[in-house]
Amino acid sequence: MSKPKVAVIFTGGTIAGQSDSNLDTTSYRAGVLTGAELLAQIPAVHDFCTPVPEQFRNVVSTDITDADLLALHALVTRQLAQDDIAGVVITHGTATLEETAAFLQFTLRSDKPVVLVGAMRPNSAISADGQMNLVQAFALAASPQARGRGILVCANDRIGSAIYISKTNAQAVDTFQARDAGFLGVMMGVRPLFYAQPAQPLLPPCFDVAGGGALPRVAVVHTHLNDDPGVLEYFLAQGASGLVIAAAGNGTLSSAMARQANACVERGVPVVKSSVCGAGFVWNEGKDKLIPAGFHNPQKSRMLLALCLRQGMDMAEIEACFTVQLG
Ligand code: GLU
Repeated sequence: MSKPKVAVIFTGGTIAGQSDSNLDTTSYRAGVLTGAELLAQIPAVHDFCTPVPEQFRNVVSTDITDADLLALHALVTRQLAQDDIAGVVITHGTATLEETAAFLQFTLRSDKPVVLVGAMRPNSAISADGQMNLVQAFALAASPQARGRGILVCANDRIGSAIYISKTNAQAVDTFQARDAGFLGVMMGVRPLFYAQPAQPLLPPCFDVAGGGALPRVAVVHTHLNDDPGVLEYFLAQGASGLVIAAAGNGTLSSAMARQANACVERGVPVVKSSVCGAGFVWNEGKDKLIPAGFHNPQKSRMLLALCLRQGMDMAEIEACFTVQLG
């Protein structure tokens, strides 16, 4: 019987990382090994699928640009359109994996699984996690059980949703967590076990990015005690068309920052308030004119706001895209 074809797009990251020492898990170089070299290490995937490889980039994931995201979107769209492709795997550095995953979730709708996978230990390390993560990502992308669940993240024997999962630890292999929403399932070896029937996360309508056109610049401002509201003007002067504020708690700002942010909104600049907490939601309690981020963390809020602005949405339309999760 013919095995399902799984497209695999290699972008680099720690999963393709190398060091001279197999004890080095911190100062290795990300994005060194090619996709062909990674595939050669895991011949067992051919037992259950046929990989169709594509070397897209080979970089540390902090170097993935917005232009890369649009090009990646076009590539994944082409692959998903092929009838004989069962699903798509994307290898990615863990640092920004959730941002790429969120971008794809906001811009793609397909029943076929699209699975992002990374690793915390470089390929050269003892007990490197990348090989098993990659094998499991192939198994997940090839599985009919994974269909209809949105963009998935597979790492450390767990399956998560692009919208809810986040990198929570700078070193640990169990870094990807979804603290409130939880995981969608686990990997039992190469068998995905899901906790529930297929469902999609609550999302605004899919953004069409097929026609080209860059993502507008959106800046993320991290608040703290004694913060400087002048940074909002700075980013606008640098060309930002929208702002995301990583606010304290459930969206709380210093009085000075709140005044400045509201003044930006009054001039027609959308300002989204998200939270530095890493879990929970931000809603609009009527105290200000800012757009509440719902469950989206600051970096995913940046993606969503940039997509809204690219589509020319007004303030009310942007707010509707963010608050769809808030009922
Ligand atoms: N290991 C790197 C870090 O934790 C990430 C490498 C990557 O994302 O490409 O910062």
